[in-house]
Amino acid sequence: MTDNLDQDMIRKAVDLAVAEKGTDPANMPIAAVVVRDGKVLATGVNRTAQDCDATAHAEIVALRGAGQAAGEMRIEGATLYTTLQPCGMCTMASIWAGVSRIVYGAGRDDVHGMYFEDRHLSTFDFVADAFKDDLTLEGGVLVEACAPLYYGPDDDPPEEVQGND
Ligand SMILES: [Zn+2]
Repeated sequence: MTDNLDQDMIRKAVDLAVAEKGTDPANMPIAAVVVRDGKVLATGVNRTAQDCDATAHAEIVALRGAGQAAGEMRIEGATLYTTLQPCGMCTMASIWAGVSRIVYGAGRDDVHGMYFEDRHLSTFDFVADAFKDDLTLEGGVLVEACAPLYYGPDDDPPEEVQGND
């Protein structure tokens, strides 16, 4: 169930994305927040361009910070909040990290396909097929605030911003 904490945390992620990256989709304003027991363990903003690192997605940055904050690699019981449905890499990383919930704003159908590494396989497939069976995934929280930060399904993003082409 979506509750106020979920909305507050997605709002926090949106604010962070906009504060660090602005609202131009070309700057990839994607942010993530990791929360456990009502406390923020870590936040992350997409850093792929700055760090020349294809793995520096907002969720990965946040999971790294959360592991540091927790003092161990697994953060059982934590929720990963992200402004955009996580890609396969970030979903897998969440599974390895022991995350219990993933909550996101804009979903795969709300944005351009450039944000995903695969044409058909979705985050939901990874979660459904994982050995970990206590991970839940929920989307569409504050989608109206998240989706405008990204290229829409029918937009024609400049080729240089497309990572998967
Ligand atoms: Zn990702």
